[in-house]
Amino acid sequence: MTDLMGMFGTLAVNAAALIGLMVAVSPIVRRLAIKPDRHDRILLGIGFGLAGIVVMLVSVEVADGILIDGRNVAVAIASLFGGLWTGALAAVCIGGTRLLLGGDGAAFGALSTLLAWLACMAHLRFLPIDRINPANARLLLLGLLLTVATAACAFLAGLIGSWPWAVAVDVGFVYLGAGACFYTVCLIAIAKLLAREHAQVATEKSLHERDERLRALVEISYDWFWETDAEDHLSYLSARVEDVLGVHRTEFVGRSRDHLLVDTIDGDFAKSRQAVEERKPFRNLIWAVRLPAGEVRWLRCSGVPLTDAAGHFTGYLGVTTDVTEHRHAQKTIQWQASHDPLTDLPNRALFHSRLQRMLTHADSAGRRIALLFIDLDQFKRINDSFGHTVGDQLISAAAERIVGCTSPADVVARLGGDEFTVITDDLDDPIDVERIARRIISAFEAPFLLERREVYVSASVGIAIFPDNARSADALMREADAALYRAKDSGRNDFRFFTPELNEQSRERTMMESQLRRALEREELYLCYQPQIRISDSEIVGVEALLRWENEVLGLVPTPQFIALAEDSGLIVPIGAWVLETACRQIAELTKGHPPLNLAVNVSSRQFTTPGLLEAVQHALSVSGLPESALELEITESVLMADLRQTYETLEALSALGIQLSLDDFGTGYSSLSYLRRFPVNVLKIDRAFVNDVTKDAGAAAVVESIIAMAHGLKLTVVSEGVETPEQHAFMVRHGVDRGQGYLYGKPMLLKDFAEIYCAREVA
Ligand code: C2E
Ligand code: MG
Ligand code: MG
Repeated sequence: MTDLMGMFGTLAVNAAALIGLMVAVSPIVRRLAIKPDRHDRILLGIGFGLAGIVVMLVSVEVADGILIDGRNVAVAIASLFGGLWTGALAAVCIGGTRLLLGGDGAAFGALSTLLAWLACMAHLRFLPIDRINPANARLLLLGLLLTVATAACAFLAGLIGSWPWAVAVDVGFVYLGAGACFYTVCLIAIAKLLAREHAQVATEKSLHERDERLRALVEISYDWFWETDAEDHLSYLSARVEDVLGVHRTEFVGRSRDHLLVDTIDGDFAKSRQAVEERKPFRNLIWAVRLPAGEVRWLRCSGVPLTDAAGHFTGYLGVTTDVTEHRHAQKTIQWQASHDPLTDLPNRALFHSRLQRMLTHADSAGRRIALLFIDLDQFKRINDSFGHTVGDQLISAAAERIVGCTSPADVVARLGGDEFTVITDDLDDPIDVERIARRIISAFEAPFLLERREVYVSASVGIAIFPDNARSADALMREADAALYRAKDSGRNDFRFFTPELNEQSRERTMMESQLRRALEREELYLCYQPQIRISDSEIVGVEALLRWENEVLGLVPTPQFIALAEDSGLIVPIGAWVLETACRQIAELTKGHPPLNLAVNVSSRQFTTPGLLEAVQHALSVSGLPESALELEITESVLMADLRQTYETLEALSALGIQLSLDDFGTGYSSLSYLRRFPVNVLKIDRAFVNDVTKDAGAAAVVESIIAMAHGLKLTVVSEGVETPEQHAFMVRHGVDRGQGYLYGKPMLLKDFAEIYCAREVA
């Protein structure tokens, strides 16, 4: 009985020792549960081995050499929580020590340890166990297995040893009863201990896994992450910073965030500093840094303040992105939205906002601002003549010249087409702006070299001054525009200051355009006819149709004035078609039953660059019934100068129809006879200006003589315009000019008047 008590006491001490040991090693067990590690397993195996040795040594002997102790529990726990090899290590330590100690039962002691390990192995193999949260039923089963193994061992030892049967059975049963309780209680207690820690282990495990995932994210992220301490010193920077800034992150850790700014150039850094001082989060603040190599990078930064459990500020956690490329792209887009791609000058939108800003500034500073509107003279002619590529080259070269005439503080913008503007606030006296205007005009004196051709273009300038002429941007622009028109009207290649009367003129121009738009439908347009005579016998052989416009408000508008307006606005296309059809119809009717009369109709270059001219001519001929050979289209040199395939094809097609092509106002433009060879032109009209001078100026007479000779050489019919005097007529007779037109033979007249002369002549 005493032995029995002693034995239970021993078991209780062993149990306490083992549970204590379990408590001591539970951090290792926990670590193993999270992340199995060989080093920890070895430690655990040796630890439980030593524990088994200690409990073996302190245990009491129940019989000779027979100990009831917890060494097997040590092996079981080591196997259970560290794996079979950990258990094996513990078993080797304990069994080996038992063998070394020697004495009766040494072999059985060692054997019992081995059996315990084998029982664990069987158990673990066939009933795998959750090491973190083992089920009680399984632990009970393991306890039972150990008990049976140890009891069988003790029984065997009793039998083989010198014990009488009864003692051996006794000891066996004691083992069975006590062991069952002991092992099972020990195991369950330990399992409970672990189960309590299970929640914590699981949390730590998931935290650990989340940390791992975050680290992976940080590593692949394009951004970099940082942390500061309470003193705003960087305590962490992720590796990406090194790729972007090209500096080693250790250089920054421990330093203030400012250190990262080699040189703050621009942006929101001050805002971020203020947020940090106020312990507030900041988001998407952007600033630039200059790297040691001089390169500028733009960074976008967000940060949140961190606090500890007690609510004390511990620093900031943040993320930074390199937005340099994005910023550059944004700048490019902004640039494109506000600049003219051809000249790189500010466009209309930017010009407007700059003008507004400068006006506000000038208003408060009591300064003056001059607004110059610049327009290239007859740019449309260049564009139509040489094509858009050359036109574009001219615009950019012109922009350069204009910029060259201004100071860096002035704003030069392109408003569109061939319109430029300059805003200058650097003037104390209107004479200053006059100087700029003169400089701009003379900058256009030299020719432009475009595709190996020398092209001359002049510029006209209109000027309005704030606050003298107007106070608002819109009014100032309107007035500069009116002044520009004034400069154009008075001969171009000049500048004009705005005067109140100009306002009136520009209003008139706008009004005239709106009236002209409705002129066709209101039937305000009509044709006059001017006879052309054969010089040799003064017979009327032809007639030129000349357009007239009589408006109820404006009265009879001078033809060159509204033709220019119609060309500018594109209205010339429908008007020109109407002229063609009306002239063909009227002259076809007039000449019905008479020999055909040559009908000359003016066609503007704008009609050549707009599709549909050929169709309009065909339509006019077919509805009127006028023979093709009776129609003569008067074109100007600019049409031929265009030298465009499309123009050439139209001329060829017109010529193929059988109509005549006449070159009007010869001598005023480029006067190049080489065009005449290349194009299917039949008639050449010498400009009125030359004819006017032939009897007064020997030089003019010589020029006209040579034009006539060359034209005849090219088999062209020569028509002289503007013959006003018998002397001029005599000159034409002398030089064999074919036809004449001018006030001497007849002014442009209404159809009925022309019909009268025509029919009278027939009668005569
Ligand atoms: P143009 O084709 O050279 O027409 C001749 C112009 O000279 C006419 O002016 C005519 O009145 C004028 N004129 C004729 N003989 C004499 C003269 O002996 N002395 C003087 N001083 N002038 C004379 P108009 O009718 O004012 O036409 C001016 C220009 O307008 C025309 O010049 C032509 O280029 C254009 N034009 C007229 N009608 C049309 C048309 O239907 N379509 C187009 N596209 N242009 C037209
Ligand atoms: Mg003409
Ligand atoms: Mg003419």
